[in-house]
Amino acid sequence: MLKVYQQTLNKTVAFKGIGLHSGKISSVKILPGQSDKGIVFKRIDLKKNNEIQANFKFVVQGKLCTTLENDYGVKVSTVEHLLAAFYISEIDNAIVEIDNEEVPIMDGSSRDFIKLLEDAGLKQLNRKRRYLKIIEKTEFEDHGKYISIQESKNDFEVGFQLSYKNKLIGNQKNMINFSKDNLDSIYQSRTFCLFEDIEKIKKLGLAKGGSLDNAVVIKDEQILNENGLRNKKEFVNHKILDLSGDFFLSGFRILGKVNCFQGGHQLSNIFLRKLLNNKSSFKVIQLDEILVPNKNIVFKPVKAAVNA
Ligand SMILES: [Zn+2]
Repeated sequence: MLKVYQQTLNKTVAFKGIGLHSGKISSVKILPGQSDKGIVFKRIDLKKNNEIQANFKFVVQGKLCTTLENDYGVKVSTVEHLLAAFYISEIDNAIVEIDNEEVPIMDGSSRDFIKLLEDAGLKQLNRKRRYLKIIEKTEFEDHGKYISIQESKNDFEVGFQLSYKNKLIGNQKNMINFSKDNLDSIYQSRTFCLFEDIEKIKKLGLAKGGSLDNAVVIKDEQILNENGLRNKKEFVNHKILDLSGDFFLSGFRILGKVNCFQGGHQLSNIFLRKLLNNKSSFKVIQLDEILVPNKNIVFKPVKAAVNA
């Protein structure tokens, strides 16, 4: 349901784990945040210039994960599954203290983060939430990859299609309405890779912390993980999870319908820059009264500066 007011978590939560790409162990604390501050990462292993705003403008590398870097060269990587958890848990503001460069991969999905945030509970803040309501279609194509967004009623909907030569993945597609559908199979879906790509990825110095405990590995038509898949569409569902985390970097909750073919972190970031630059394609709004589900929804445009 659409919330009128911004929210944060009710108490501090903590966890630790290995980084998928760095292979380093990080300890993380998530603290309640203030209205209008958004999600802020704080590298507590560094003494100064250690804050990094979770915003698309600070994305520096988006190939195999989403990395943020502030103006002083301080980075935090693999933020997407935690951001997706904030999105799904309806948290708008939080401070994420981390003592290393990469957010732990946990089980490769957002399941553990969502559980922690659920346990912490929600706290309503005194400022209203701002939504980005799409009013005109924007689309982008790049080397056979495609992404578009168009007007939706008052929901965030994501349609995604994958097309892999690998027969087990094949042409998997799904359409999810983040406000109305049950999202269990989305946030439980793990990151995945083809067995034959592991060597290539490792040669790039990545996936040092990768294992069958935090990624689905596919070899030909077989899943190498002992218990197989968590749901039939785990591959495309994970891509939808990634997209929700990456789109949360817009700084808003978006009301619009996304269609994506073969996308990933990089495409999502290029697209967000394009979308937020095209100011005639959206309105920034807030809700004006407490909502009765699907009734009496009153939108009020607000003046907001969006810097792309
Ligand atoms: Zn992912």
